[in-house]
Amino acid sequence: MSTAGSNDFHGRRAFRGTRLDLTGPRALFCAGLLVVLSMLGICGVILFQARVDALNRARETSHNLALLAERDIERNFELYDLSMQAVVEGLRDPEVRGSSAHLQRLALFDRAATARYLTAMLVIDASGQIILDAANDTPRSGNFSDRPYFIVQRDNPNVGLYVSDPYVSRLRNGALSIALSRRISNPDGSFAGIVVIAVDLDYFRTLLGGLSLGPHGAISLIGSNGTMFMRQPYDPKIVGRDIRQASTFRQFRTAPEGSFSETSSIDGVRRLYVFKNFPNLPLIVMVAEAERDFYAAWRARAIRIGSVMLLFGAAFVVLSVCLGVQQRNRMRVEAELQMLARTDGLTGLHNRRTLMETLEHEWRRARRNHGPLSLLFIDIDSFKAYNDTYGHQAGDDTLAAVARCISGCIRRPGDSAARYGGEEFVVVLPDTDKSGAAMMAEKIRRQISDLCIDHSASRHDGRLTASVGTASLCPGQEDDVDALVRAADRALYSAKHTGRNRVVAAGDLLRPRTAVQGT
Ligand code: GH3
Ligand code: MG
Ligand code: MG
Repeated sequence: MSTAGSNDFHGRRAFRGTRLDLTGPRALFCAGLLVVLSMLGICGVILFQARVDALNRARETSHNLALLAERDIERNFELYDLSMQAVVEGLRDPEVRGSSAHLQRLALFDRAATARYLTAMLVIDASGQIILDAANDTPRSGNFSDRPYFIVQRDNPNVGLYVSDPYVSRLRNGALSIALSRRISNPDGSFAGIVVIAVDLDYFRTLLGGLSLGPHGAISLIGSNGTMFMRQPYDPKIVGRDIRQASTFRQFRTAPEGSFSETSSIDGVRRLYVFKNFPNLPLIVMVAEAERDFYAAWRARAIRIGSVMLLFGAAFVVLSVCLGVQQRNRMRVEAELQMLARTDGLTGLHNRRTLMETLEHEWRRARRNHGPLSLLFIDIDSFKAYNDTYGHQAGDDTLAAVARCISGCIRRPGDSAARYGGEEFVVVLPDTDKSGAAMMAEKIRRQISDLCIDHSASRHDGRLTASVGTASLCPGQEDDVDALVRAADRALYSAKHTGRNRVVAAGDLLRPRTAVQGT
């Protein structure tokens, strides 16, 4: 059911309402979404921070492990070196040199020779033969002139302590060892032989094996020349391997110590590499923890917290949508109720209350703009008789038909029609002067008559007709709305008394009341 004539007064009010409505469904949804996004954002930042913390913690742990391994090895090797220096110095003493092998053993080799992983401590002469053995008065036989730890000392008087690469021991049935050697020089500086200590690689294996680095972690001891000494998890095939060409090794040589992340080309695992070059030995210790290991706890927590947050977020969004939908429905129902309260149920036109509001508004606007305003009072002729003849239901149908006819006649956006009461209608015509009102009134009158609704009691060709009274407010007038309504009513009264089915215009409202009554 459409209301007659769109009223821009109400349109504007409705528009103002949506613009300022911060409790509307869309605003509710946006607010909900904003809260959820903020929550997820904060959660994301916290989780990211936790991830950075996990990385820093792993770096710190690896660094501490590297430091511990380095200090242990450095301290042990320093002690071995001191023992070897004692031997070198002792051999310079002619008294010691001249004594028996037994006494020389007692004088030259201290208790370090019996240390757990120290497998041999020997003095080897310039030809590579063992001349003194810490283990026995009778030295074991063998020539070691082909060993790098011998050759290096022989060919260079200034090497100092030499640490060899891992090698397979001849004295101990192929056990893996490394050797520490020092040169023994004659008084004239020529080569007299070496002192050598053999260290079982199990020392490194036990030392590194006790460190926990997660299922995919590794810790390695590497020579500065790129030879692998030991790796945990242990693999005998790796000992002695040359890794000089590996990109990780190249990075180890760029700084005394540091860390970097890299994906292994062998197993595809991304690891955090923490390395440390020994300050006094040609060794590098490297601790590599797999990211998936040290992020495992973080990941589990992130999945838990993330899922809960997502669930909360989704619930919040659903709640906002539900609230929004509820709000929209409520607003729609309210709007419908408001419209029903403003509309006449039978005809769909504005009701009398709305009419008075519209009229009041248009009257004030006309005064402000100094423009004209017209009013048509329409009353169906002899409608009581119509009801009596055709029944109340037919009367209702006819009222609705007349209302539709009136609605059809008014075209301008500002015009509006209302049911004033019973079989009376009022049309408000803003910005319309007296002649325009007369034209509209005549049009409506004619079109009602042209509906050709049978009315046997009518004196106008047996058709249903209506009378119209018009009144116009001219610019500059001081009258109020009621005066305009009364004037139109009086004009209608006049139309009734002068034969019905006609239009009568009220006199100029500026004229005194008596003159108006004379219409
Ligand atoms: P006049 O030409 O002087 O206007 O005569 P009239 O009979 O139209 O005027 P009167 O005021 O005597 O009667 C109005 C009638 O309109 C009375 C009532 O039966 C009828 N009427 C008022 N409201 C309704 C309505 O809602 N439905 C129907 N069917 N009839 C109505
Ligand atoms: Mg009437
Ligand atoms: Mg009537």
